[in-house]
Amino acid sequence: MAATVRKEVAERVSALAARGVSVGLATVLVGDDEPSQIYVRHKRRDAEEVGMRSVHVDLPATASQAEVEALVRELNADPSIDGILVQLPLPMGLDSEAVTESIDPGKDVDGLHPYNLGLLVLNRTGLRPCTPSGVMRILDHYDLPTSGRRAVVVGRSFLVGRPLALMLSAKGADATVALAHSRTEDLAVVTREADILVAAVGVASLIGARHVKPGAVVVDVGINRSDEGLVGDVDFEAVREIAGAVTPVPGGVGPMTRAMLLSNTVWAAERRAGLRGS
Ligand code: NAP
Repeated sequence: MAATVRKEVAERVSALAARGVSVGLATVLVGDDEPSQIYVRHKRRDAEEVGMRSVHVDLPATASQAEVEALVRELNADPSIDGILVQLPLPMGLDSEAVTESIDPGKDVDGLHPYNLGLLVLNRTGLRPCTPSGVMRILDHYDLPTSGRRAVVVGRSFLVGRPLALMLSAKGADATVALAHSRTEDLAVVTREADILVAAVGVASLIGARHVKPGAVVVDVGINRSDEGLVGDVDFEAVREIAGAVTPVPGGVGPMTRAMLLSNTVWAAERRAGLRGS
């Protein structure tokens, strides 16, 4: 599925190239956090594979807030850059909200700038956060209807849970949504109501068979490192016995998140080229 999205994006990149427009994605990594280095490497490789120009800047962990923001301003002003991605989390001491807010909202391909999150609240066209967009694409791709369905999203971060709850409940998707979190009482009672259950928590195997209504669609956003490698928030083997459908980790939402970053970047380029309304 992610490959299908990448192919679509590659075609759109070629169509822009035919008009003399090249698509550029800038990635910024501050510090030397190893998982972040891997994520950025993958994102750059993905961008190059679909024909985008990838520009990367490494800043040391000692970089100041002013230095990071100055770099972002330079990229904002660079006409060859359509998308800017500052890999989060930033090293301690840096204000990631301020850095995100310094990105030109038109180049905010992570969709996390308050302006773009505001457009999401208003259900207006804009750059959407990649992970929740990837979840919506998965539901759409497999013809899993959301309209009138009860959806429960576990996790309320601004990165995943909250934007996803907005997308699922927006006109057009029309699910009835509950948003659960660490203070939710009787989580299993809440999640068993769900026709569509999304786990975006960061606790390995939090969601077991007792949390799932028979036949429900279960989407596992979690990525947790364990002795067995990467695992999700869902106990996949137990839940697959009872769910109607369940996404795996690795190989489920993660690749779709990366694909949606490419989709956002080409969309930003199309808009800058005047091919899409604002
Ligand atoms: P986060 O900012 O740490 O948020 C976690 C959320 O889970 C919080 O809302 C927290 O509640 C809630 N929570 C924690 N323990 C809970 C419990 N026992 N029961 C119910 N809710 C609980 O994390 P995030 O950035 O949203 O990421 C969530 C997971 O998704 C992580 O594993 C992350 O690695 C993964 N992720 C994957 C992708 C991907 O591409 N697949 C992308 C982004 C993130 P409170 O608000 O009350 O603290």
